[in-house]
Amino acid sequence: MLPAIGPGRRRSFQRRVLAWYAINGRDLPWRKTRDPYAILVSEVLSHQTQITRVLPVYERLLGRYPSVQALAQAPLADVKAITDPLGYKIRGGWLHAAALRVAEGGGGFPATMEELRRLPGVGRYTAGAVMSFAHHRDAPVLDTNVARLLRRHFGVAVSDRARTRLLWDLAASVIPKGRGYLINQALMDLGAIVCRARAPRCGDCPLRRSCIFRANARQESRRPLPD
Ligand code: SF4
Repeated sequence: MLPAIGPGRRRSFQRRVLAWYAINGRDLPWRKTRDPYAILVSEVLSHQTQITRVLPVYERLLGRYPSVQALAQAPLADVKAITDPLGYKIRGGWLHAAALRVAEGGGGFPATMEELRRLPGVGRYTAGAVMSFAHHRDAPVLDTNVARLLRRHFGVAVSDRARTRLLWDLAASVIPKGRGYLINQALMDLGAIVCRARAPRCGDCPLRRSCIFRANARQESRRPLPD
């Protein structure tokens, strides 16, 4: 079940996350565009990969293939020569196949969740990111960093399957109306930079006073050691 979040708590959460982001947000090239093709490329390249490694590959791929049509016309081997060094080699094929599908469709870049999810390699997360960052729709974007942050902050502890569904609902519920693109980016950065998988920097976190994970950890550390 979704944790009960009253309007006051929700607003406070949103305010603190957005204030933190205004000062600490990362300056990433795909945040300066609303081109759905560029955003799709950035999301596919960022999958399970450190941003510092993604940046040069993103620049190189878009420099060589600045439009989805250009990518569709490229030989797959040339695309993979750029993307494969990042590892997770299937992504070059996904991008190329998605570009072919869009180019063959002839109707422009897909602009709904359903259409996007029909593209090869595009799941709920990537489609949500394109909807949110390119089209400024209030679609939730739940990457591993956001999931970890929400799970810890709201104290979500249920079975794996139910948890995924619940976290998607939670990610949708914390979006301020009309500002999904902003809070999604903010949550992604806060999760990546502060609420790290190992050694979360709780002392620097704007959510530290309301975080259930932190409260439990502090309580735990005060408990006397067993004899
Ligand atoms: S207080 Fe710590 S555990 Fe809680 S959201 Fe912030 S960094 Fe994560």
